[in-house]
Amino acid sequence: MTTFRTLSSSLLALLLCGSTLELAAQSQPSHPIILHAARLLDIKNGRIVKPGEILIQGERILEAGSSVKHPAGAEVIDLGDRTLLPGLVDAHIHLFLHPGAEDLQTVQESVPQRTISATLAARDDLMAGFTAERDMGTEGAGSADTAVRNAIDQGLIPGPRLRVSGNAINILGGHEDALNYNPEQHVLPNATYANNADELVTVIRQQFKEGADFIKIYETGHDSVRDGKLHSVYQYTEPELAAAVKEAARLGRHVAVHATTEPGTLYAAQAGVVSIDHANQLGDETTRLMREEQIFAVPTFTIFEYFADHAATPEQSARERQMLDLHAQEFKKQIAAGVPMALGSDVGPFPHGTQAREFALMVKFGMSPLAVLQADLLNGAKLLDWKGQIGSLEPGYLADIVAVPGDPLQDVSVLGSVAFVMKGGVIYKK
Ligand SMILES: [Zn+2]
Repeated sequence: MTTFRTLSSSLLALLLCGSTLELAAQSQPSHPIILHAARLLDIKNGRIVKPGEILIQGERILEAGSSVKHPAGAEVIDLGDRTLLPGLVDAHIHLFLHPGAEDLQTVQESVPQRTISATLAARDDLMAGFTAERDMGTEGAGSADTAVRNAIDQGLIPGPRLRVSGNAINILGGHEDALNYNPEQHVLPNATYANNADELVTVIRQQFKEGADFIKIYETGHDSVRDGKLHSVYQYTEPELAAAVKEAARLGRHVAVHATTEPGTLYAAQAGVVSIDHANQLGDETTRLMREEQIFAVPTFTIFEYFADHAATPEQSARERQMLDLHAQEFKKQIAAGVPMALGSDVGPFPHGTQAREFALMVKFGMSPLAVLQADLLNGAKLLDWKGQIGSLEPGYLADIVAVPGDPLQDVSVLGSVAFVMKGGVIYKK
């Protein structure tokens, strides 16, 4: 009896194991799917269509509009009183960071441990409706993001489609260096050192070799507020950044920078970066170049709000709040001057899956809900190099689709309540 039980439980374990393996690789159903809901967002024309229907076959959209063909054998999924819209884009994330002591987690946690956390973060972001993201640096976990991106692409784990930068790049003593530790302990920086144009080229080649899709460079930092103005030290000169942009362009890739204030943002714009992230306090010439060259600003308001709300001391909180207020005033000027915007939250130091807050803050600080959604979806698709593939519900596009209650053009906060998630024709949340 004991033997029989042992045998049958091992058999059961084997069977379970087999089915788990089958479930692990996520693939599209072979039959067509029709999604139906009360509303659908036509992002390019800036309107809501009522009702909304989308016909999906495999990983792609075949048809979208008020009504679509209903082929034989199609499965109809009725999402009721909801709005269908393209999967959300977050152009500035850190899968390898989690809330807590931001500086010490990268010292105390091993890269394998951080990689496991990153896979959970990717799942949380996807379940919140973010089907495409740009990871702006592993902060000391090397090129471990390559493995996470590839596992997602192979359908082994759930997560957004990703553009990854590997470890970001930084100067000795710069923004992401490990300052204020005992030098004898040789605490490593959270970014890879490059101290001149030649070293930038070498590090960039290494990053691409290890699987990066684009390059992230820290161009300014640390920030300080003096006399009601933000100050930030630049790290690379314009010719140094231009050498980095040229090397990336050799492979058809881009450079994105963390940068605020002058002259760092001007050097970045002149060098031809693809985006200036954080983008606080831009000079007139920087603003002009960004408009004319279509260099995206990625404001990342949510991180500043989170730091202000979760500061260790009232003084620190006041400082963070002041930075956020300064940026909010700047943002209005940037919009008026025609600086193209993309949406990025800088999630990681605050909980993954909660970053839809960025939509609400961009509206609060001066953009219309439609303009924010177009910045997120249309500019996000361009910035992540998936133009014509994601960001709109059109025939031939990848079936990255979410559904929310209410109408996001009336109230963007509904984007924080994503009820349905499909990516590449696979349903992850229903
Ligand atoms: Zn960041």
